[in-house]
Amino acid sequence: MSVQTYDVVIIGTGPAGVQAAIHASRKKTRVLMLGRVENSALHGAHIENYAFVPGVSSGGDLLRLGVEQAQRFGTEISAEDVLSIAQAEDLFHLELEGGGAIAARSLIFCMGVAKKKLNVPGEKELSGRGVSYCVDCDANFYRGAVVTVTGDRSAAVDGALTLLDYAAKVYLVAEELNVSKELLNRLEKSKVERIHSSIKQIIGERMVHSLLLASGQTLETEGVFIELGSKGALELATQIGVQLDTESFKYIAVNRHMATNVPGIYAAGDIVGPPYQMAKAVGEGCIAGMEAATYARKIRKED
Ligand SMILES: Cc1cc2nc3c(=O)[nH]c(=O)nc-3n(C[C@H](O)[C@H](O)[C@H](O)COP(=O)(O)OP(=O)(O)OC[C@H]3O[C@@H](n4cnc5c(N)ncnc54)[C@H](O)[C@@H]3O)c2cc1C
Repeated sequence: MSVQTYDVVIIGTGPAGVQAAIHASRKKTRVLMLGRVENSALHGAHIENYAFVPGVSSGGDLLRLGVEQAQRFGTEISAEDVLSIAQAEDLFHLELEGGGAIAARSLIFCMGVAKKKLNVPGEKELSGRGVSYCVDCDANFYRGAVVTVTGDRSAAVDGALTLLDYAAKVYLVAEELNVSKELLNRLEKSKVERIHSSIKQIIGERMVHSLLLASGQTLETEGVFIELGSKGALELATQIGVQLDTESFKYIAVNRHMATNVPGIYAAGDIVGPPYQMAKAVGEGCIAGMEAATYARKIRKED
């Protein structure tokens, strides 16, 4: 199967990603935007503080209009998550949730911020003592252990599959899974044990030793990975050496050109820090889109 190469790949279909797509596509570049519109923070919001759009607008409607606009300028769209990123020579190689792979000359991270907390008793107390929020960061600490992942999207499924390389036993606790058929197939063929329930309490004194599930079952486990969103910025950034902000380590660090420390990778929107506002996301997306397109064209040696 031949791997398609894009000039600019935008990860995220919220306001930052959409605006980046519009500006990058108008600079004679081949642009792909990845991610699900319905997972954008804007999707369920009602907006009345965005200039030029009077009254109260549905965030979902605004997103649909923006995506159509980007498509009119030539942006290609694929509603799937990115699972991993690697770099080789001048290209970034992306593994997609649907099982495909693509290459990009430049990347824009517009993944927003994940609502990561489970908010159950024991979570805060045992954080860092068996409770983790990042499989890619902490999997190595659980070699030979029994571990549990919870979450209903790609981060949880991909995390559970990754943990099979480290742990002796991997459970995935989720009522329903909202992932592609391909990822679901990979899960079903794997040794991950799926439990259709949710976590009500994390139990342990010094370290996690079990979970109380909504079904009433107690599940013995040495670690619980809370992976509630899509494959998140932190994990993807870690894979490729993108630096986070030095104060909170929660956001991608960028300069005024929305460039990260890795040449060719840009970031925009909530992922680079507060205020979490559509107007800010759109402004930053505009800069990132133009800068990423210029970078890609230089790599193509056309400017
Ligand atoms: C309830 C609510 C009300 C709000 N009200 C307002 C308001 O009144 N005014 C205002 O200005 N702002 C408001 N906001 C904030 C605003 O919605 C956000 O600031 C804005 O959506 C941020 O845009 P973004 O593009 O950075 O991220 P998001 O819109 O969150 O988009 C993130 C995108 O990244 C994708 N993604 C994540 N991980 C991956 C992956 N691994 N692979 C592929 N795609 C991925 C997601 O699917 C999604 O498409 C509100 C937010 C909420 C939740």
